[in-house]
Amino acid sequence: MSIRSGLLAFLCLLLFAGCTPQEEADLKAAAEQARQTAVARGKEYLATEAPRVKETALAEGKKAVGTAVPQIKGTAAAAVGTAAARARNSLRKVVLDPGHGWQGESGASYFDLKEKDVNLKIALLTQQILERDGYRVALTRTADDPDHDLAYAAQFANAQKPDIVISIHANAADASASGTEACHTVGKRTDEQSKRLAKLLTGSIAARLGLQEIGIFPENSPGKCARTASTGWAKLYIHDMDAPTALIETAFLSNRGDAKLLTDRPGDFAQAIAEAIERYFESPGK
Ligand SMILES: [Zn+2]
Repeated sequence: MSIRSGLLAFLCLLLFAGCTPQEEADLKAAAEQARQTAVARGKEYLATEAPRVKETALAEGKKAVGTAVPQIKGTAAAAVGTAAARARNSLRKVVLDPGHGWQGESGASYFDLKEKDVNLKIALLTQQILERDGYRVALTRTADDPDHDLAYAAQFANAQKPDIVISIHANAADASASGTEACHTVGKRTDEQSKRLAKLLTGSIAARLGLQEIGIFPENSPGKCARTASTGWAKLYIHDMDAPTALIETAFLSNRGDAKLLTDRPGDFAQAIAEAIERYFESPGK
């Protein structure tokens, strides 16, 4: 139908002025043609587009399921794993012993840092991590303790009946000395566990803080753990603790670089200690 006759048909319809039979026939024919065209296009669309849409939807759906299911499984497994770890850790008791701070005694002091404060900060942060992971934790002191002397640390620790004790200290020597080292007990039935704990602590701190792992030493080694050993047998106060105990000298307060690590990254020292504790319990006797 031409534009002109179409327009005529439209006008005759619009104005109700009547149409010639020819116009009426043209109008019907045009309407029928339009309907057929629409139906044909619809069919064509369905034939070509619908399968593609279906395929795309299926592929997208499969992809979404493929991504989501492992994620959901992973999240569920992690949640179960965390709950199981917390339950397991709730059976484990750890005593942390922040060195010094008894009756006004501060330990070493360099660069405006007092050892008692550095030790306490790391101990408190370690406690946070361990308790988050479900461990039972007790500290021999949670602030300066003017009322007790050093002997109280072992009395307190033993009363807790812990699985292990970790005494947290910072080292001091000449300014060039740097690194991490630990002391373990000698002459006790718990010596092997004490040694293993000491080794895990130095390894973990050295790795996380990038410090030299100097080594582990018996509590009576002169110039290391036992500073008065020249007078004969000099046990460390950790000797009086019943549970396997290690004394970690985190880093040298007397070294500028080490002191900066102790000041800036106490949380990393705490994390390293917590990880050493986890490994201690997870690999018994190894
Ligand atoms: Zn100390």
